[in-house]
Amino acid sequence: MPYLYDLSLRELESHVQTLAAPSYRARQVWEWAYRHLAPSYDEMQNVPASLRARLAQDLPFPALTVVHELVSDDALTRKRLIRLHDGKLIEGVLMRYDPRSDSRGRATVCVSSQAGCAIGCVFCATGQGGFERNLSAGEILAQIIGFAREQPLTNVVFMGMGEPMANYREVWRAIETLNAPEGIGMAARHITISTVGLVPSINKLAGESLQVGLAVSLHAPDEALRERLIPTAHRFPLPDIIDACRAYIAKTGRRVTFEYCLMDGVNDSTEQARALAALLAGVLCHVNLIPVNPTANSGIHRPARSRSIAFQRELVARGIPCTVRVEKGVEISAACGQLRSETGMVAVIDARS
Ligand code: SAH
Ligand code: SF4
Repeated sequence: MPYLYDLSLRELESHVQTLAAPSYRARQVWEWAYRHLAPSYDEMQNVPASLRARLAQDLPFPALTVVHELVSDDALTRKRLIRLHDGKLIEGVLMRYDPRSDSRGRATVCVSSQAGCAIGCVFCATGQGGFERNLSAGEILAQIIGFAREQPLTNVVFMGMGEPMANYREVWRAIETLNAPEGIGMAARHITISTVGLVPSINKLAGESLQVGLAVSLHAPDEALRERLIPTAHRFPLPDIIDACRAYIAKTGRRVTFEYCLMDGVNDSTEQARALAALLAGVLCHVNLIPVNPTANSGIHRPARSRSIAFQRELVARGIPCTVRVEKGVEISAACGQLRSETGMVAVIDARS
């Protein structure tokens, strides 16, 4: 059964008309749902009770339950373990930034697009757990709205569990609703999709009228190492990914972010930094170096800070803008899929079930 959040405004209008109600009722419901972020139909007092009761049956609010919430020591990052209606577990993260920092006042939600992930990256807790199912647009929106009820949001990034490009249709529907001016109205440029590099979907994204940001996870400057870290990487070789990114940039004029998860002794040497710089020469981009958050039994470790900085310097010296990601919520396992796979929780402050 679809959730209210799964429908576009047009689809909601059609549904309301099949119930012999005027279509402006759909707009009223939409505004309650996305402008006032109402948690149920009960709040929608200007909509007749009989229509509300019928809609609650046909198009319920998503059944997401926050099972745990962890808060970082500085209280700026909150990570939620969320149970879906069928018992599957996903994670959603809210990252706020210190008001004194450059990112003043930003509040970013990191959403999951799938329960699990089929790509199987060796350093990623989600990938190691395997694939369960795609999330619906409504389940994606519910993660965002859950946080938006507590504080105004500025950005959304698809960097939680799952490969968003492998669930393109539902991810795109969620983005259209998030962007719709009658509702939340988040600007497309404040929304970013992160992908492991599914070339056909990058091409599709380049042709969309809404220009959302693109982040591509590289993790290696050469094909052989990349295929060791990302077991399904052979489907889309590095040169094809870079070509697709060049085409995306030519079409949209937007800078691409390349994510590179730094792993000690695996992909963090200065030679590898130089090879990465050569691969990205002339591409309008920014490289985001992410010191790995080690997962249990992976044998993969985080490099010393000095190695991350040396890697960054090599890239910058070759004209590639590059930053080492400021760690947000390391102590609460904010990397993708890690909370779900852990048994020991650090600071459970919420256990609604
Ligand atoms: N599937 C998409 C988006 C979700 S993963 C992708 O891979 O891009 C979002 C980011 O988290 C990716 O850049 C991924 O490399 C990173 N990530 C996964 N596991 C991590 C870990 N253990 N430590 C640090 N970053 C990690
Ligand atoms: Fe999937 Fe991204 Fe994790 Fe790789 S890093 S397994 S693509 S979620």
